[in-house]
Amino acid sequence: VPELPEVEAYRRLLAAHALGRPVADVLAPDPWYLKGGASGRAVRLAVRGRQFSAARRIGKLALLDTKGGPTLGLHFGMTGRLLLDGVAGVDRLQYASSRDNPAWDRFVITFADGGRLAMRDPRRLGGVWLDPDEGRLGPDALTLSPGQLRDALAGSHAPLKARLMDQRRIAGVGNLMADEALWRAGLHPARAAGSLSAAEERRLHRHLRATVDDLIARGGSHAGDLARLLNGRCPRDGEALVRATVGGRTTFWCPHHQR
Ligand SMILES: [Zn+2]
Repeated sequence: VPELPEVEAYRRLLAAHALGRPVADVLAPDPWYLKGGASGRAVRLAVRGRQFSAARRIGKLALLDTKGGPTLGLHFGMTGRLLLDGVAGVDRLQYASSRDNPAWDRFVITFADGGRLAMRDPRRLGGVWLDPDEGRLGPDALTLSPGQLRDALAGSHAPLKARLMDQRRIAGVGNLMADEALWRAGLHPARAAGSLSAAEERRLHRHLRATVDDLIARGGSHAGDLARLLNGRCPRDGEALVRATVGGRTTFWCPHHQR
């Protein structure tokens, strides 16, 4: 599943290679893939002939600003990938099919220089927005400040993990990322979000930011040793991990050191 680290890799690819190139055409063969009432014709009219001026990201949403025109919002769903001039932004996603089929290109931009930007999405759970409502998303987890984390948690009786994953409060925290950050911070995922002390909030902020940084450095949520949490024993103290549903999501935690 493309989480914040994968989408950040896509953003960097777009920033490095998609800006400043005049758009020749927009191909949207799958109307389902256009969200918020946008049509292929509307996107084509809005973008054709323009250049992208910036590649941004909020949480799992990649944003492409056009010079003097609208912004495109790209969401990659469960299995979406970005291909730019035939190069994939992330080599392979864990749950994506290893087969590669151009028929899965749901949205394509061709450049006047002959290049091509494609969203390839077998399960088509992603989508493209024209001028998405960015205000619906909370501050991004990669640049989250201590005050923003405090605001996201304050006064909430919701489970801590559910609050961390609420994209309107903090954008970009996925399931494994939340488990990893809470494990590192020694905090129980089912605690009331508003119950943390100031010291616990600082600790969570530090570990959440470090977890995001580490995942980006490794190139994705599913790379590296996050899977250690799935192996049954806490790597810190050897305690048997608990697996249960918290906030509607499968959750792992250590009953010994997460409180
Ligand atoms: Zn432990």
